[in-house]
Amino acid sequence: MARPQVVIIGSGFGGLFAAQALAKADVEVTLVAKTVAHLFQPLLYQVATGILSTGEIAPATRDVLRNQANATVLLAEVTRINLASRVVVAEKLAKTVALKYDYLIVAAGAGQSYFGNDHFATFAPGMKSIDDALELRARIFGSLEMAELSEDADERRRLLNFVVVGAGPTGVEMAGQIAELTQHTLRKCFRRIDTTKASVLLLDGADVVLPPFGSKLSAAAKAELERNKVEVRLGALVTNVDATGLDVKYSDGRTERIASSCKVWAAGVQASPLGRTLAEQSGAGIDRAGRVEVNRDLTLPGHPEVFVVGDMISLDRLPGVAQVAIQGGRYAASKIRGEVSGHPVSEEFHYHDKGSMAVISRFGAVAKVGKLELTGFPAWFAWLFVHLIYVVGFKNRLTTLLHWVITFIGRARSERVTTEQQLVGRLAVKQLGEDFQPTIAGTLEPGKIKH
Ligand SMILES: Cc1cc2nc3c(=O)[nH]c(=O)nc-3n(C[C@H](O)[C@H](O)[C@H](O)COP(=O)(O)OP(=O)(O)OC[C@H]3O[C@@H](n4cnc5c(N)ncnc54)[C@H](O)[C@@H]3O)c2cc1C
Repeated sequence: MARPQVVIIGSGFGGLFAAQALAKADVEVTLVAKTVAHLFQPLLYQVATGILSTGEIAPATRDVLRNQANATVLLAEVTRINLASRVVVAEKLAKTVALKYDYLIVAAGAGQSYFGNDHFATFAPGMKSIDDALELRARIFGSLEMAELSEDADERRRLLNFVVVGAGPTGVEMAGQIAELTQHTLRKCFRRIDTTKASVLLLDGADVVLPPFGSKLSAAAKAELERNKVEVRLGALVTNVDATGLDVKYSDGRTERIASSCKVWAAGVQASPLGRTLAEQSGAGIDRAGRVEVNRDLTLPGHPEVFVVGDMISLDRLPGVAQVAIQGGRYAASKIRGEVSGHPVSEEFHYHDKGSMAVISRFGAVAKVGKLELTGFPAWFAWLFVHLIYVVGFKNRLTTLLHWVITFIGRARSERVTTEQQLVGRLAVKQLGEDFQPTIAGTLEPGKIKH
């Protein structure tokens, strides 16, 4: 008899850990993802600021699963899911595949949200993918290069004004690293500009940084950022973004125009549109961020064969963090293993909070593990240890550690290459429009409209 077919959508934390947890199950696993790699998103900011290479945080999924005989990896974007006929349709370069499933795990994650102002994305890229990180790297280092060329004082000021929107972990880490670059790493690299005069601004509409960390750690994080020359402005709502700056409205009613060429958006997330497809077909609820309201065993209402995990779920206000996805992926796999082996798992999904941490500066971080709250070097050391464990692959762990030694002890950064393609690629593709399809030969064929 044919083995049950498990289709997994996504190669992030939820998808990959689910696939690995099915290694010994009597099933065939097909993991389909629109990106070739398993991306370790928490370290994207280190690619954007020249610390790590892309390969270190994004090993090829095909390589990670090469020894798992029951797993097949496909590179394609899922465009349709038909719950009634149990088929997933995925496309790549005008090629379409239809995948029949007995069990489906949807782990397609979340994208950036601009809260209805999608035009901000043109000028303030988010940080969700390798493309985003490389574009930001090109924008950050590129701003300094352009400032070195500029003869105009106003233009120079604008180019040396970096603005990060959103004071969650991503924004805090990003702002801290840009300040580290301008205050230390690049200090001696330019002749016509003084990079230590650059300003790094961190804006947030809330009145604290890192709200989920609690008031003590939030205050410690803000103080550490300011000590490292990041200006933190809270109660600051961004009302517009364009090529030369941002408009901000403060909670006391004041408005301000901030001139800046390099803006980073780290302010909101929106679950994959596949969530809406699932909700429409199953009658499941969906929240404002597009997350699907799943049953307590992570299945879709009326569909015990379909699991949704990670950033796509709305359940008990669970946060969009890696551990929710990892534990959800493993739990879904355990349910499938149980059913296939005739020992069904009746337990509901329980999330074990292993804590959260954010790096602010060289040797400075905040960490919250249960009731334990750490700041400074102990928090930074805990961060180093945890992140090394979760970087996938021994070789990646080794080279990541080497890069961290170079950066944290020597303050140097060895991944500073940027190209014009990285700078303009996203916007150029957008301008071409959807009626152009790239081919593997590198040409663009008009008329093949994507559906
Ligand atoms: C910059 C940043 C920093 C973060 N820092 C932390 C941190 O410090 N600690 C922490 O715990 N969490 C952090 N997170 C959150 C954490 O990374 C996510 O919660 C986690 O990645 C969610 O896992 P997931 O499997 O649900 O989705 P993802 O890891 O996002 O994976 C989604 C997968 O689905 C694929 N996909 C999407 N759409 C389709 C489609 N239509 N067809 C096929 N494939 C598709 C993608 O290619 C990807 O492989 C951070 C996130 C970001 C962006």
